[in-house]
Amino acid sequence: MTARPPTFPASTVLGYPRIGPHRELKRALESYWDGRSTYQDLENTGLQLREETWRRLDGLGLGALPSGTFSLYDQMLDTAVLLGAVPDRYRGGTSADAYFAMARGAEGIAPLRMTKWFDTNYHYIVPEIGPDTSFRLDATKPLSEVREARGLGLETRPVLVGPVTFLLLSQAAPGGPAGFAPLDRLADVLGAYERLLAELAAEGVDWVQLDEPALVTDRTGEELAAVTTAYEWLGNLTDRPALFVASYFGDLGDALPVLAATPVEAIGLDLVAGGASGLDTLVDKTAHAGQAVPAPKTTPAQMTTLGKETTLAQKATLAGKIVVAGVVSGRDVWRTDQEQALATLRAVREQAGHVVVSTSCSLLHVPYDLDLEPGLDSAVRRRLAFADQKVAEVVELAALLAADPVGPISAPAVAAQAKAAVVGSVQADHTEELVPGRDPGRVPDRVTDRVSEEGPVRSPYAVRAAAQAEHLRLPSLPVTTIGSFPQTGELREARAALAAGELGEAAYDDLVRAEIARVVALQERLGLDVLVHGEPERNDMVQYFAEHLDGFAVTRNGWVQSYGSRCTRPPILHGDVRRPEPITVRWARHAQSLTDKPVKGMLTGPVTIVAWSFVRDDRPLRDVVFQVADAIGDEVRDLEAAGVPVIQVDEPALRELMPLRREDQDAYLEWAVAAYRRATSGAGDRTQIHTHLCYSDADQILDAIDALDADVTTIESARSGARILDEAAIGDFERGLGPGVYDIHSPRVPSTWEIEVALKAALRVLPADRVWVNPDCGLKTRTYEQVEAALTNLVSAARHLRGDQ
Ligand code: GLN
Ligand code: ZN
Repeated sequence: MTARPPTFPASTVLGYPRIGPHRELKRALESYWDGRSTYQDLENTGLQLREETWRRLDGLGLGALPSGTFSLYDQMLDTAVLLGAVPDRYRGGTSADAYFAMARGAEGIAPLRMTKWFDTNYHYIVPEIGPDTSFRLDATKPLSEVREARGLGLETRPVLVGPVTFLLLSQAAPGGPAGFAPLDRLADVLGAYERLLAELAAEGVDWVQLDEPALVTDRTGEELAAVTTAYEWLGNLTDRPALFVASYFGDLGDALPVLAATPVEAIGLDLVAGGASGLDTLVDKTAHAGQAVPAPKTTPAQMTTLGKETTLAQKATLAGKIVVAGVVSGRDVWRTDQEQALATLRAVREQAGHVVVSTSCSLLHVPYDLDLEPGLDSAVRRRLAFADQKVAEVVELAALLAADPVGPISAPAVAAQAKAAVVGSVQADHTEELVPGRDPGRVPDRVTDRVSEEGPVRSPYAVRAAAQAEHLRLPSLPVTTIGSFPQTGELREARAALAAGELGEAAYDDLVRAEIARVVALQERLGLDVLVHGEPERNDMVQYFAEHLDGFAVTRNGWVQSYGSRCTRPPILHGDVRRPEPITVRWARHAQSLTDKPVKGMLTGPVTIVAWSFVRDDRPLRDVVFQVADAIGDEVRDLEAAGVPVIQVDEPALRELMPLRREDQDAYLEWAVAAYRRATSGAGDRTQIHTHLCYSDADQILDAIDALDADVTTIESARSGARILDEAAIGDFERGLGPGVYDIHSPRVPSTWEIEVALKAALRVLPADRVWVNPDCGLKTRTYEQVEAALTNLVSAARHLRGDQ
């Protein structure tokens, strides 16, 4: 690297969606997996999507274009392949076979684990690193993407997962020595990155972006030392492009001075997720930037302790760095407040050598283009920006900043000004009056009523359990399901026809009623104890409620990648949430009218509805969740009044909204639990409240789950090796528990024997009258054949253990 870094154009984005504006990649992947097309066809689709992206970004006037943000499945998986970290069991076939075997499994081989990407709804593949993993660089992907863009006459900046985040998010390969952590392999991985940087430099690449989002979460001194090692190592190479280290999803905290002290040329900051606090950190930690404090020889471990060394270390300066300022949110769908963003940019400019305007994170988390949503209400639409609109905002802000003279006021004053702008915008949203259903300045009474924030208090569990036993008359080890039954093609088509106006409402309702009758009859025939209506009327557990509540808008094309080929269409929560009329009551009542067995009404919980939507940003998240809780609470009361004796309120996303920093987590769990109780505590003692959680490391938040105070919790357990039943985890969990006895994500039908083994494990730690028998999630994605076979075995296992047979 020469003394002066190459110029960094005034605007960029950290990444862009890749599934295709019409989910072209999803279709190409599924067709390739089904053998309907070749790998070459899939590659061609990929190439076309990449080219369209670069042309689009260039056409929108963006200064610096990223490459490498495309992936056939996932960027962490791509990084593992780039470094040659492919576990032996996946090798053998072609490199494409190995890639998709890691992602999805292959004949007899389970895939690598998949988990949530920080606090987003995107899931990444967790690479496996062991003491013997050999790192063999294969830079084909980044190099060929650079060349593809050049073919269009465009220069790009390769985007890669940085070495520290890659290792921190990887898992130790199974069977390895105790105490081994992937980070132990840092030096070897850095060797591979060193070769990669040399290859990129040889290709004539000016800048490379290394994503290090893991640095916005709590990090130990040792981990921060790894940051120093990594970026001193890579930064001191002579044969490399300029280095841009991007952080996102929060503020860097202690990692900022550590990173700033290394020779990297540019640092990316998320100035949206941290809000004003991100700016605070920046100002605090660089306040003495102008005073040329000599860089102290402080170890990162010392930096994390509060002492004199820390103060010195925090003076590490950003003055010589380029700051890539993420002021346009890559996580939400709201238009950026331009004045506020400009104030932030000016404040950053005072601190740093040079400022580049950017998104707060990759635009992967938002839909492509608002122009694909002609049906949206125009008042809501005016507040929205999808990926392309956000790119345009970035470009415009860069132009405004360039035209804006550097003011004479001091940095702290500008920062204070910017902060005031942030606070001000929360109080007075300038677009508020445009939105129907939104009452400026009005926080619904029930939300401010903190005395009763959890709603009425239900009787203690023991009292309720007795009332419910009397009322429901269930056998021990009652058998139930999580709610959904397979969605038939006929129903999906009917729903599409209804939306297109080709099928009347009454005809559609008849179909739903008939399906409910079929599902109820099936459960009676198989001998389940608490029946469900099967959720045939729902396209999705969140979208369905969003469609029936005021304050939400839903999109037709607003797809966002969840993992691999899977996308979701998060609803847009833009106004005050109210329930104009009962939503699910008629379906549950219909189901209950068909059977003498108790029917369980099925609702989605307030945290999950909010977690899987794009949420208004002008009110604290907590207040929004409480509003939704009140709407669900109304539904709970109406279900009860309609004679539905059991009500399940699903909260699978409880863990997902958890703040990334530990210091914020307890406060979150407290209000999230309060919201759940507020939604459910209107139920009388006789009404049995169930909740369901999955996709979460539930064992880690069991206290919070207990605090939900549901009478019965059904929970994912089959895939996590029944960790939930560990003595330490289950502790003094005092309510009913249904540890999912088999994994519904696989088509495999569990045997009666293996279900009994799972139940016996539960019976070792819980009394028989508190153990429930159920699959570990809804049956929506299975076939009726699989469901019938599995539920038959579920019932016979329960009966056998009860001693009925
Ligand atoms: N009740 C929902 C269903 O059965 C729950 C789905 C979920 O947990 N994600 O489909
Ligand atoms: Zn589930």
